[in-house]
Amino acid sequence: MSYEVTVEPTGDVVEVEEGQTILDASLRQGVWLPFACGHGTCGTCKVQVLEGDADVGEASPFALMDMERDEGKVLACCAIPESDLVIEADVDVDPDFLGYPIEDYSATVTEISDLSPTIKCVRFSLDRGMQFQAGQYINVRLPGVEGARAFSIANQPSKDNEIELHIRLVEGGAGTTYVHETLSEGETVDLSGPYGQFFVRTSAPEPLIFIAGGSGLSSPQSMVLDLLEQGDSRQITLLQGARNLSELYNREVFERLAAQHDNFTYVPALDAPLDEDNWDGFTGYVHDAAIDHFDGQFSGHKAYLCGPPPMIDCAITALMQGRLFERDIYMEKFLTAADGAEGSTRSALFKKI
Ligand SMILES: Cc1cc2nc3c(=O)[nH]c(=O)nc-3n(C[C@H](O)[C@H](O)[C@H](O)COP(=O)(O)OP(=O)(O)OC[C@H]3O[C@@H](n4cnc5c(N)ncnc54)[C@H](O)[C@@H]3O)c2cc1C
Repeated sequence: MSYEVTVEPTGDVVEVEEGQTILDASLRQGVWLPFACGHGTCGTCKVQVLEGDADVGEASPFALMDMERDEGKVLACCAIPESDLVIEADVDVDPDFLGYPIEDYSATVTEISDLSPTIKCVRFSLDRGMQFQAGQYINVRLPGVEGARAFSIANQPSKDNEIELHIRLVEGGAGTTYVHETLSEGETVDLSGPYGQFFVRTSAPEPLIFIAGGSGLSSPQSMVLDLLEQGDSRQITLLQGARNLSELYNREVFERLAAQHDNFTYVPALDAPLDEDNWDGFTGYVHDAAIDHFDGQFSGHKAYLCGPPPMIDCAITALMQGRLFERDIYMEKFLTAADGAEGSTRSALFKKI
């Protein structure tokens, strides 16, 4: 049993299997729809149902409000057709988006190591190469954990069948607890990808600012490694925020790159350094480090932000106060189930994540 979903205004027709979401079917059939988190928390994939019926699925009440449900809006990442549908979507495709098809992969863990007391590096070998753009993420299925979990790819796309992830332990989190306590080398898991709209706008000539917090270094690491490997000549600044020195991981990687590339600058920031850290770098939040480094003036740049929602919100405020506008700011918010739950707060600054 399957249903046909017609996507307006393009007129593309997607065959959706029983129980499959509109987004999953579309992306697998090469029909691009906007989306970001992929699990009902951000609202980027909101579409209007013009004809037919769909189950809204697990859409968060924040991402899809009651009024919108009454108007026939659904989130494509959660919505399951209950009849043939006609939907209307905002299908403007960025010219720098390569739109690699999403596929399923079998991934064997080759290495697990500690990056910090709360973040592990997990390397997988895939059953075949995955094409992706630096900055994109994958969805991993873990044994005994319901649904899939999103993790951004930390290696650059040229690393053929390899995937590197940086995974922070979330208190009470089923998937990250499994990764930190049970996942072992040699274990095989299923994953799918590549997902997401967080990628470098390669056609834009402006210098780039990357702001990363915690395990949000993953995507910027992939992007920076990719840009430097491609010989990109734009000025690239990476600001990395962590609580203390033990949480500031891969610092030596970026210090080495900064020494090797005149166009790359690395600025680490600790907001709560310990006495024993003997920290002589910037002390404060990473968005304050950005203000300090750029004298509060960001116009003429493109900024890429990655990490937990509060860090992103502070960085957006700092960038906008420094005259960088919405069109020049791109982000990947590491939303969790808690962010999609009733009672959580969402940024009022930006209409999209
Ligand atoms: C696009 C994207 C990319 C990401 N990339 C990375 C990455 O590279 N590295 C990384 O470390 N993280 C990343 N994340 C975040 C990562 O996906 C989350 O940390 C992960 O989903 C948490 O999974 P979990 O199973 O451990 O927690 P979950 O079991 O999903 O729970 C998360 C938190 O929510 C709480 N919770 C669960 N259900 C509810 C509920 N119904 N109501 C209220 N609270 C609830 C839990 O107690 C817990 O504190 C990314 C997220 C997104 C969206």
